[in-house]
Amino acid sequence: MKVTEEPLITVMDGPWTPEGLIREIVKSGTQEDPFYVMDLGEVVARYHRWRELMPRVEPFYAVKCNDDKLLVSTLAALGTGFDCASKAEIELVTSVGVAPERIIFANPAKLPSHIRYASAVGVDVMTFDSEHELVKIKQLMPRAKLVIRIRCDAASAQFSLGVKFGCDPVTEAPRLLKLAALLGLDIIGVSFHVGCCITETAVYGRAIALSRTLFHIGHKVGHKNMHLLDIGGGFPGDLQSSIREVAEVINSSLEEHFPERTVRVISEPGTYFANAAYTLAAMVYAKRTVVPKECSDIAEKHTMYFINDGVYGSFNKVTFNQSVCAVPVNDYEAPRSACSVWGPTCDGVDCVVASARLPALSEGDWLLFRDMGAYSIAIATRFNGFPIPTVRHVIDARLARVLQERGPLKASHFVAAPAAWRSTDAEVECPAISAAAPSPFLAVLGQ
Ligand code: PLP
Repeated sequence: MKVTEEPLITVMDGPWTPEGLIREIVKSGTQEDPFYVMDLGEVVARYHRWRELMPRVEPFYAVKCNDDKLLVSTLAALGTGFDCASKAEIELVTSVGVAPERIIFANPAKLPSHIRYASAVGVDVMTFDSEHELVKIKQLMPRAKLVIRIRCDAASAQFSLGVKFGCDPVTEAPRLLKLAALLGLDIIGVSFHVGCCITETAVYGRAIALSRTLFHIGHKVGHKNMHLLDIGGGFPGDLQSSIREVAEVINSSLEEHFPERTVRVISEPGTYFANAAYTLAAMVYAKRTVVPKECSDIAEKHTMYFINDGVYGSFNKVTFNQSVCAVPVNDYEAPRSACSVWGPTCDGVDCVVASARLPALSEGDWLLFRDMGAYSIAIATRFNGFPIPTVRHVIDARLARVLQERGPLKASHFVAAPAAWRSTDAEVECPAISAAAPSPFLAVLGQ
């Protein structure tokens, strides 16, 4: 199977799974580089679930999480807004036809040229968390519509953002609101980000309550136009996870603190939309067996497998203590033994899985990794000369038709599946896109 660099979406006319497609692609033996299978239907399903569980909260996708143009285009077709952190992200989002009103420039510390660019293309809404940023915005874009970013951290998060951004809601925010009023700047709302991959959902309640207080203070010091609450990101993105619990906390906190419908509520989910849609396939290309007598701290025979993607590529998150699960593409049932999985670079930290039990693998065997769309390709480097994996975008035929009609995706973005793929896993029903059942997503899309 030839790897295509073209941003094309393969249309499947029947049931399929990412695992089944990966198996089919690697079967030929000609594939050597790592690649992703990206299931656009998963993104559509997640949008649908979001709207169902949090109808009051408009998602503005955080582009930094994964700036894949076809992901951005799909979300644009669904009608989300976008959280951009830089000029390049604004360029990307507007290049697929998104209107500037659907963008928030949600980086509290912005480069002057990026502010000028935002101003030139009509992206008016932006966040800030310091006096310096206020003064800079006053000079460069005095008509900006400003959103104050406050700090409110979850008790536990894989990535805490509060260490870098968000002013203290009690000691700093009231002072900044007063300064903005003195400078004649227009404050339209409050934002926060509780941290990525959080486990404490109650934090959204605390942050929403703090935001309400700041709406009161803002109003008192002269900001009569406050009408935007931005509840940030932090939402779970794995296939097995659910936003039901967090949605309940958010919905009830909004009812308690912001019952008035004149306040528009937006959010900045990145991981939620990107993670589960991407399954990575990587090939074992070398191995080394370590026997106990040669290395005293290893109790049993252990195999080190070397794969063609690592922490300098897709697996950056492993260096932040996030674990990944390697699944053999074939031979699930074979007896398992102790092993570790390493990336391709010459660096000792390039360890993807430090300890696992897998069936014996040979050079040329493949492993797959689910839930790999968030902060993976967006961060990947070519360190040591290894390529960044390509992405194969795949979609159900009926969804393809609907997305095409809504734009910005056009007929030229879609290509029929190769014959070999069409029979893939015909017996396996993909839960997200069942061929037999009427698709709930079509209803969402107004079809
Ligand atoms: N918004 C901002 C300002 C961020 O910094 C981030 C992540 O760094 C996000 C949204 C996305 O967060 P998540 O991936 O947890 O949804």
